[in-house]
Amino acid sequence: MARAFAGPGKYIQRKGEIRALAQHVTPLGSRALVLVDPAVADSLQPALAAGLEGVTVRFERFGGECTHAEIDRITAATATPGSAAEVIVAVGGGKTIDTAKAAAIRTGARMVIVPTIASTDAPCSAVAVVYDAHGVFAETLRLSRNPDTVVMDPDVIAAAPPRFFAAGIGDALSTFFEARSNAESRTDNYVAGGFPRTLAGLAIAETCQAVLRRDGIKAMIAVRAGLCTTAVENIIEANTLLSGLGFENCGCSAAHGIHDALTRLDETHGLLHGEKVAFGTLCLLMLENRDPAEIEETIRFCRAIGLPTRLADLGITEDVPAKIERVAAAALKNPGAIIYATPVTLSVPLLRDSILALDAFSATIR
Ligand SMILES: [Zn+2]
Repeated sequence: MARAFAGPGKYIQRKGEIRALAQHVTPLGSRALVLVDPAVADSLQPALAAGLEGVTVRFERFGGECTHAEIDRITAATATPGSAAEVIVAVGGGKTIDTAKAAAIRTGARMVIVPTIASTDAPCSAVAVVYDAHGVFAETLRLSRNPDTVVMDPDVIAAAPPRFFAAGIGDALSTFFEARSNAESRTDNYVAGGFPRTLAGLAIAETCQAVLRRDGIKAMIAVRAGLCTTAVENIIEANTLLSGLGFENCGCSAAHGIHDALTRLDETHGLLHGEKVAFGTLCLLMLENRDPAEIEETIRFCRAIGLPTRLADLGITEDVPAKIERVAAAALKNPGAIIYATPVTLSVPLLRDSILALDAFSATIR
């Protein structure tokens, strides 16, 4: 009856909180390296400078991809002899955050995460995903610590393009369905080397799903109109805290396994993580042969949010069966891959045909 649960030390969500950042950094250390996504470096500079008053700060611009080389660079910058940073503050999206987390583990620095988009599960977890310089999935790192503090400022999130918010909903959409895969296949979670999930972990994944269904479409419409409502704030929490805790404590399965393999197709490189995960989630439901009403409802939800539901939406229009066969083979290649947390006896033909069948099923939904 073993079980284990992990999460960040603190999660704070409040409008304007970026201007109070020092309050969350100072208890962890007086010298900070701030790794900033270049996309927001200029627009957030005044708020960050005001928010970090009193902290000795060194700014570094993120290089654009979470590669081993970028992690090495930030590790070296953090550990500069004589002025080593005690805290790494990550300001940006999932790849900026994962790079900062990996570097913090190597140097022993504490971690404060300031997401600028509500688009992935990176902020809360002790997992970092490494890509090669071309954006192809390379490996998943399981880190020994979760971030100390996550500071979510809805004003910052609302200023980002709505597409990121939609992608976050796509990533969060996988959380409950993948938790169910893991429960049915009795696969361990990502906590402390792998444990059965806690009741709390499953409850969080279920709540994530309920909040998406209740508030997702309302929130998306509000964000597109530049508005911040209670539904928007709830979805920010669902995309970041509920989804982040849900996946780490319950596990990923084929939605992310298919995502990882899709990164091998050049056509998908312009797509965001959560967009590919949303499509992978639909494929997961077909692979697990779920109730058609559930698949249809999920397709309709994705369309209302603006998430892909067809291979053509991912840009995959030519040579489709051969490409999907390659995706299926890549997804199953490593026997330890997360896709094996699915309660199905997997094979390349079954996975290939499930993806193609989901595409055909989606074409029938008007
Ligand atoms: Zn994800």
